[in-house]
Formats: sequence, structure tokens, C-alpha cells
Amino acid sequence: MKKLNLIFLGPPGAGKGTVAKDVVERYGVPHISTGDMLRDAVSAGSELGKKVKSVMDSGQLVSDELLYDLVKDRLSRKDCNDGFILDGFPRNLDQAEDLDKILKELNLNLSGVIFLDVSEDEVVKRISNRRVCPKCSRVYNLISLKPKKDTICDDDGTPLIQREDDKAETVRKRYQIYIDKTSPLIKLYTERNQIVTIDASGTVDKVDEIVFNTLEELRQE
Ligand code: ADP
Ligand code: AMP
Repeated sequence: MKKLNLIFLGPPGAGKGTVAKDVVERYGVPHISTGDMLRDAVSAGSELGKKVKSVMDSGQLVSDELLYDLVKDRLSRKDCNDGFILDGFPRNLDQAEDLDKILKELNLNLSGVIFLDVSEDEVVKRISNRRVCPKCSRVYNLISLKPKKDTICDDDGTPLIQREDDKAETVRKRYQIYIDKTSPLIKLYTERNQIVTIDASGTVDKVDEIVFNTLEELRQE
């Protein structure tokens, strides 16, 4: 069986984190979300967190140099030897080059890029209804993935919040950054014959099913 060394690509709000969580449950590979890692740094008030907070809140991208170190450190950890999901990285062509370098240095290969394809209107709708638990980071949706009770976390009862960068005025900007900077990666990985496009407009169960089938094929190749 081939390892699942994956990139999840797609606009903000496409459902990358949601599907990744379900893939982690099934295959046990670590989910490396650079957004989550940076948000953790902000919550912890670390040096990194202080550097990136205002950039993140405004919906802009953090510098490539900071991401390089963060991702290299994380991929160097032992748990990535049996597979990983990169979610939110690479986010531009320079970061794709950085990733090539990191993977080479760590003697890792990419198995494939899962591109979650969803329309702008759908991601805006998903993001505006996204709520997160500030304690455990679990992600909900007020329409499609509601918490069991009111707006509190099923796991720890903490009141859910809206991410600062999910506020309406920032969402369209982030989508535009995705189009300008991130979407060229689709062409890059298509040319390398490494991308699988998934119609991610359906329900979470439907998208999970398509992704699981795709991963089974990737494992057999
Ligand atoms: P990303 O990690 O790509 O930014 P998320 O996984 O956080 O996206 O999903 C964005 C929002 O949409 C969340 O509120 C999530 O609960 C919801 N969501 C995820 N997948 C779907 C889906 N297939 N259908 C409807 N809502 C979804
Ligand atoms: P996400 O959780 O993937 O939506 O990311 C939230 C925010 O974290 C982004 O809007 C950026 O400010 C920052 N971020 C996450 N990943 C990257 C990356 N690969 N490059 C630059 N900034 C990033």
C-alpha cells in the first residue's frame, strides 16, 4: 500500500478541515493545518503568534519564510513518516517550491493533491455560517453541521465564536487572494499529473465518500 502524503487544496471554506478530520479518523494520518497551527500560536501569545495576528485577522497571507520553518519542523516529526495531510499549505507558487525542497530534504514524496472544488457563493455561505470552539478548535456550521445544543461546543460546552477573518468584509478578500495566489497551484499540480479534482459542493457525507474512494485508489497505485 502506498502512503497517503497529501495536500488538500481549495478555497477557504471549501471543507478541507472538515474532510481532513474524517480522513484522520479513518487512516490515522496527522492533519497539518497551517491555519490551525498559526491560530494556536496566536492563542498561546508566542513570538510567532504576535507576529502573525494582525495579518491573519485582516485575511492576508503570512510570510513564506515563517511558513517554511513551521512546515519543515512539523513534517520532520516522526508521525509524518506514515502519511500526512497538508491543509492550507502551499498557498502560492513560491510555497510550492519550498514544499518541493522540504520534501526532498526529508526524503518524502507526495502521493497526490486533493482539490476540493466549490463555487464562490457556496464558500461564502459556508464561511459566514462557520463557528468554532475557542477551546478545542472543533468546527461547526450553523446550517450544515450544527452543534447539538444552541451555539455551544458538543465536546466541552464552550460558547462557539466566529473567527475574526470569517467576518463578511474579510471573506471576499480572502477568496480573491485564493484566486490570485493559490489557484495557480491547480495548473502546477495538473501539469505534474498529481491532482484529483473532487466536486465538494455536496453534503459532508457525500464529499467524504468521494474522497475516501479517491484515497483508496491512490493507496493502490
Ligand atoms: P476549510 O478548512 O476549507 O476552510 P471548513 O472545513 O472549516 O473549510 O468548512 C467551512 C465551513 O463549512 C464549516 O462551517 C463547515 O462546518 C462547513 N462545511 C464543510 N463541509 C461542508 C459541506 N460539504 N457542506 C456544507 N457545509 C460544509
Ligand atoms: P486557514 O485556516 O487555512 O483559512 O488560514 C487562516 C489564515 O492563516 C490565512 O488567511 C493566513 O493569514 C494564514 N495562513 C495559513 N496558511 C498559510 C500559508 N500557507 N501561507 C500564508 N498564510 C497562511
